[in-house]
Amino acid sequence: MAKTRIVTGDRPTGKLHIGHYFGSLKNRVKLQDDYEEYILVADVQALTDNFNNPEKVAKNVREIVMDNLSVGLDPEKATIYLQSMIPETAELTVFYSNLVTIARLERNPTVKTEIAQKRDIFGESVTYGFLGYPVSQAADITVLGGEIVPTGEDQKPLIEQTREIVRKFNSIYGEVLKEPQVLLSENKRIKGLDGNEKMGKSLGNAIYLSDSEEEIRKKVMTAITDPARIKKDDLGNPDVCMVAYYHNLFNKEDYEQACKECRAGQRGCVECKKKLIENINKELAPIREKRKYYEEHPEIVDKILKDGTEKARKLAKETMKEVKKAMKIDYFE
Ligand code: ATP
Ligand code: MG
Repeated sequence: MAKTRIVTGDRPTGKLHIGHYFGSLKNRVKLQDDYEEYILVADVQALTDNFNNPEKVAKNVREIVMDNLSVGLDPEKATIYLQSMIPETAELTVFYSNLVTIARLERNPTVKTEIAQKRDIFGESVTYGFLGYPVSQAADITVLGGEIVPTGEDQKPLIEQTREIVRKFNSIYGEVLKEPQVLLSENKRIKGLDGNEKMGKSLGNAIYLSDSEEEIRKKVMTAITDPARIKKDDLGNPDVCMVAYYHNLFNKEDYEQACKECRAGQRGCVECKKKLIENINKELAPIREKRKYYEEHPEIVDKILKDGTEKARKLAKETMKEVKKAMKIDYFE
């Protein structure tokens, strides 16, 4: 029996961090055995808010592939591919753009938040390309016939947008497209070192999977702790402490112990941070090692991406045949 198809991905706007690790990568690794998994390196989408910085996007393409491989994604099972080398997606985006109103895009809460965060890039008026990235994302998913889309919480409104486009397309042109389901991981949204609700690679508050031991030590030392706690024997509140928050992700037992001792004023913040640094490094050591191998073999990384893209493009071409037939623009077939 054919396996259910998953499409998910990352924007090459920076290296991947522990928010991605707990929010999506661990889940991807788990799903690769039972699903047909496609992982998109979304360089075209990354250009929507980095159009004036193409070097940044180009430079991060290989980094994203290496991050995915180093956490355990197996190219024999999961297909990693590049968005810009699937031109069918751009074609489908044009057709979809007739099925979405500008008002609907402007109401999308994720797009709204992102536009507000990116005033330095867009000023008072956002570009057509950025406002429309949910349309292009709908094309990414459906051109491969994605049935399940595992993502973090920020992506939920975007998948809803995809579902609306699919319903509209099917109601006008006939039942051609699959309506994808969103699959939220248990850790829907990992907070940043600064306490921000989201750790983001464009937000400067992340611990990267590729950070060295020294970088991790420095970053954890700056993490926000309970501001009301000055001395070790002050009774602390781990609920407002980022160090406790990350303990909970890396080691539940240590988290409970840390909370108990913090509330009782028995463990100081520095000691608590040291334990966290140790736990993070324990988890990241094998990932770092695998990454080093790929860093030393860029030709292997490129081959994985090229082969994956070729495989994905075959699916995209099949979908476009159906789409054009349904839209009656298959004149010379
Ligand atoms: P950018 O700031 O450039 O948008 P990003 O950090 O949001 O970068 P993306 O490449 O946009 O990363 O997202 C890749 C995937 O990781 C998406 O499924 C997204 O929901 C998920 N993700 C991103 N950040 C987090 C986070 N802090 N917690 C959980 N999941 C996350
Ligand atoms: Mg994002």
